[in-house]
Amino acid sequence: MLNAPDYAAVVRAAERIAGMAHRTPVMTSRTADARTGASLFFKCENFQRVGAFKFRGATNALAALDDAQRRRGVVAFSSGNHAQAIALAGRLQGAPVTIVMPRDAPSAKVAATRGYGAEVVLYDRYADDREAIGRALAEAGGLALIPPFDHPDVIAGQGTAAKELIEDTGPLDLLLVCLGGGGLLAGSALCAEALSPGCAVYGVEPEAGNDGQRSFRSGEIVSIAVPRTLADGAQTQALGRLTFPIIRRLVTDVVTVSDAALVDAMRFFAERMRMVVEPTGCLAAAAAFTGAVDVRGKRVGVVLSGGNVDLARFAELIGGGTA
Ligand SMILES: *Cc1c(COP(=O)(O)O)cnc(C)c1O
Repeated sequence: MLNAPDYAAVVRAAERIAGMAHRTPVMTSRTADARTGASLFFKCENFQRVGAFKFRGATNALAALDDAQRRRGVVAFSSGNHAQAIALAGRLQGAPVTIVMPRDAPSAKVAATRGYGAEVVLYDRYADDREAIGRALAEAGGLALIPPFDHPDVIAGQGTAAKELIEDTGPLDLLLVCLGGGGLLAGSALCAEALSPGCAVYGVEPEAGNDGQRSFRSGEIVSIAVPRTLADGAQTQALGRLTFPIIRRLVTDVVTVSDAALVDAMRFFAERMRMVVEPTGCLAAAAAFTGAVDVRGKRVGVVLSGGNVDLARFAELIGGGTA
């Protein structure tokens, strides 16, 4: 069993990934503030390399391997952004990469992963066990398996986004973070505890896949069937053995938002801030916009986790209506 990461691990991760990952901008919007009655600080991981925060955890996890293992290579299973992240991190650090991806992943994500030089193995999201496939490939090839969230170096790497955010904004009252398997939320919560004591941290999930909320409130990890939601980066079935205890200890609550609220937020970012944010990337913002978390009068960090969405799909989703 690997040890749970702490804030010191996030600080080490920040040192390892410096020069490889971008320090992404923190953006504000007077329109968003007027709409919510809060001061919102958007951490724009849609501008991270490969278009999502996953590059942070991937880069840290690969950098933490010993040289011989890195040369043998790594394998990862992912619904998309983790795949691209490991693929690019592998190319930059000289590690051969094999990626196990769902057959129905957005074509832009599959193409980008192959474009970074990774070998892609496809599986059926609704029938196959991707973890078993990943483990078998790892054993056969002596590869290191880098999971998308439940790994100390991945959690610590993801936490560097919140570290940068709070360094840039100063103390926050609230921090809103999307929740899939909980790597980003757990890493963010470690940073909030260390850098902004008293900051309430909320996880935000799609309504259709509220396993995290049920787990958080019941104290036991709840598993669900693959949820059908626009938020493809949060179609996880359960929190991790490492992420769950950190989330239980440090997070205030987990709330949910509808797919319609995600589309509204996507439209807002496109129309008002000229940014493409993918549906999963809008979870935290949608919680502020809908009032799922009461942000009025508060200084609020909002992590926009990624921007990878097929443009045709994006146009189809936001076409019609105005923000
Ligand atoms: C992976 C991902 C998430 C969920 O992150 P977890 O660490 O699994 O909770 C959210 N948004 C985007 C864009 C992602 O790629």
